Formats: sequence, structure tokens, C-alpha cells
Amino acid sequence: MINAKNILPLTGLVFSACGQTAAPERPNVIYVFPDQYRNCSFGFWNDPEYASQVNWCGDPVITPNLDRFAGESVVLSDAVSNFPVSSPHRGMLLSGMYPERNGVVLNCMSERSFSSLREDAECVSDVFSAAGYDCAYLGKLHVDAPTRNNPQNPGTYVGNRMPEWDAYTPKERRHGFNYWYSYGTFDVHKHPHYWDNDGNRHDIDEWSVKHEVTKAIEYIENKGNVRDTDKPFFMMIGMNPPHSPYQSEKDCDLEGLALYKDKSDGELLVRPNADTTMAKARSARYYFANVSGIDREFGRLMDALEKAGLKENTIVVFASDHGETMCSQGITEPKNTIWRESLNIPFIVRYPGHLKHRVDDLMISTPDIMPTLLGLAGLSDRIPASVEGRDYSKIFTQAADQPERPKSAIYMRNVNGDCKEDGEVINFFPVARGVKTARYSMELTVTRDGKLNTVKILDNVEDPYQMNPLDPKQNEALFKELCHELAVQLHDTNDIWYRERILSDVVPYDAL
Ligand code: CA
Repeated sequence: MINAKNILPLTGLVFSACGQTAAPERPNVIYVFPDQYRNCSFGFWNDPEYASQVNWCGDPVITPNLDRFAGESVVLSDAVSNFPVSSPHRGMLLSGMYPERNGVVLNCMSERSFSSLREDAECVSDVFSAAGYDCAYLGKLHVDAPTRNNPQNPGTYVGNRMPEWDAYTPKERRHGFNYWYSYGTFDVHKHPHYWDNDGNRHDIDEWSVKHEVTKAIEYIENKGNVRDTDKPFFMMIGMNPPHSPYQSEKDCDLEGLALYKDKSDGELLVRPNADTTMAKARSARYYFANVSGIDREFGRLMDALEKAGLKENTIVVFASDHGETMCSQGITEPKNTIWRESLNIPFIVRYPGHLKHRVDDLMISTPDIMPTLLGLAGLSDRIPASVEGRDYSKIFTQAADQPERPKSAIYMRNVNGDCKEDGEVINFFPVARGVKTARYSMELTVTRDGKLNTVKILDNVEDPYQMNPLDPKQNEALFKELCHELAVQLHDTNDIWYRERILSDVVPYDAL
């Protein structure tokens, strides 16, 4: 007898040994993405095997669990967060679409109610759910504009600061996730809160990462009968640390802090471009404390997966939404810049028996993640037509018929556009666009009246710490070449700069 519950709505049914029709076994997928976790913050980058693959140094961090995980994984050295700030990254990650199509064009908060993930966007979780997966979301989401939909107090926001950042995501906006334990955005690491499936709020007295991993392990072990064990699962865990605040022991994991508290600012900030005289330099130990705390909790999650007998048939990704400058370039802005420490994110994928361990410089862009995950799970034929990213799963698996590798990636930064009298923002202004190639990064910024404002050109080979920007006037041919590549990216992503021919005096749109 075939148990109807075991038949997944998939094409390509196969006959099992006993002659029954059975669906192909699908892998589970776990996607872990701490917020603001920069790619150089792994101990393994100081190991000669890894250090020889990049021209920059790793932070002096202690991450034994992630090091072990990396040793079983494909480790990307050059993954790009195209719009390196929370909500726009998350919108692209979930939908595979660039911001203008998925709706998240700015960080989500109550004054920007128009920037919110489209309810009808077909997201990665919608696809996994339709393919017969049990889908779980834990932790920070930050793709919904806060509205007055507080489930405990209808007609109010979930918080009382104005403008409000945190948001409650009701069932109709959960995009196929049937297990929910999440919040919008809330930067109190040791007293987080979450809304569950039914909109009940849980206020917690525990470091958020530890709490989320405990909940994730309960989900894996199906404690409380929270998932359908006849189905494979897709689980995303959006951890808030090592995101700011990182001011004191009140903000960070104390076990992690013990590893760094006796080190000087100079011992912690080893990148030559870091300004250790900045007030922010004190934050490095708290940031790294959270990095090591995440490592410990990630190790606990991986141990539980193995103990449950699920290690072999589970794809695990460790990534982030963007990086953290942490005093590099002498700027206080941690993200939302084209500097490497902000733009380059971790992207480490383990799939035992399918992926061979190596470091790869694949320049994956954020919208590529959804189709690539679906491809790795054997669901390429379900990638929605709305997806603008590319499926690079065959580069990960080193299949014979690999797609062409990307030559470049787009960089974008939007700011508030016009505002109503009450402060409500009604549109966005695309202040910066840029391009990253295998060697160079270039950013152009535009004034509100459409004039070229600044040009930044960085040679990431000759100048790995980006301390000597190149003058476009003295590097005319290179500037022209990068403007051409930028035009290609703006065209291919159907960006507002392309559609409105912004800076057409320098970006050769019409020569494409
Ligand atoms: Ca973020």
C-alpha cells in the first residue's frame, strides 16, 4: 500500500526496488544567516589552505565549529550582498528578485510603509512548500513594513517607539512557512521576543542565538510534534547577532567574550585599513564575542542534526545578510557601502556526498541564492519565472554542464525619496550604483538633480584593503571599462538607473 501522505507532488516519480511508485527522496535544507556577520570573521581564513586562496587576512577569531563545517563544505570567498543592508538583502534572498520587483527597496520601518515584501511574491519557501516540504522560519525576518497589526493589541504597532521598526508577520504574509517563530527587527540580544504560529508573543530572558538554536533543535527532533516528519524540511534561522549593539558585556555572549576581553584593540583589529583610534574600536571584542557565541551554537545545531541521523541528507548553508566594517576605512557605518568588509558575505554550503570541499571564488549575487538552493535540492524545474537570479547549483556540484560564471555583480544603495509632511516616505532615491568584477569595485553616486557626485574605483588585487582608490581621470580606460560593465548590470537587472538613463553622460547605456 502506498501511504498517500508519502507522495510528494513532484514530477519524475521513480519505481523503488519493490515495484512501488515512490517519490525521489529530497534533502532537507537549513539556511543559517546571522545578521552583519562579515566574511573575514572565521578562524579558518588564517589556515594556510584557505589563506592561500584570498589576498586578505582573517580576523583573529576562534570558530572551531564553523572551521570544521567549512572543511566539509564549499566555501565561497567572494559572495556579494548586492544591497548590503538588512531588508533589501532579505527581500532578494527570499524572492530571487531585485528590490524593485520584490517590493523591498529600503530597510523596512513604519515611515517607509511602501517598502515591504510583496505578498504575492513567489518566495523560496512558497516553492519548497508546494514541493511537499515542511517549512520553518526562526528569528529575525525584517522584510515586512510595520503596520498597526499587533496581535495582542489590535490597531497598534507591536512596539511603542516611533518610527517603529519591529513588525508582526501575520499568516497570510508567511510565504509557505508553516512553522513560525519570528519577529521583524529588535536589537536587544539578551531579551528577544518572538511571535509563534498563532500570533502569541514570547518574551525571552536568554541570548537570542542560543534560544533560536534550542527551538531549531526541537524542530529537528520534532519535539511537541511541530513538523510533519513524512516531509523533508526547509528551515531558515535569521539570527540577529553579531549585529549592533556591541557596546558591552550586556550586549554579547559572555563565553565568547572570555576569549577576547584581555586583548587590545590593535590585537583584535588586524586589518591594515582599520582605524584603532576610533571610539568604535572597543566594539571589536563584543562583536567577536558574538561571532564565537554563534560558532558554539551553530556547532550545537550541527551536532543535533547528526544525532538525529539527518546530516547526510541535509543541505546546510551558513551565510549573512551583509558584513560589518568594524573600523575599516575609518567609517562608523557598518554596512550599506561597497567596501569589502560590508559587501562580502559568508556563503558556506555542505551537502555530504554531493559537494566536494573547496574554496571557490564564485561571485554569487543575492538573487542567485534562491534558484541555487532549489537547484541543489533537485527542484530546478520549480524555479518561478519571476526569479531574476541564476541557478549556480551545477557549479557547486561541479556537474559537466556548468553555467557560465558571473563576470560581475551589481551594487546598489537607495535612500529616502520624497516625504509627506508627517514624515511618511513615499518613494526612494537611488543614490548609488556600482559594480564589482573579479578585480575591481566601482561606485558612482548621483546628486538629487542628476549629476555625477562621486566616483570610487578600487583595485582589489593590487590593493586588497582598498586603501588607495584610483583616480578616474588618471585611469580613463579602466573607468570606461567599468562604466560599461555597470551599464550591462543595470540593463540586466532592469534597474531604475537603466530605465531612467541616470548619469547617461558616463554610463554608456545606449552602447549596449
Ligand atoms: Ca542586517
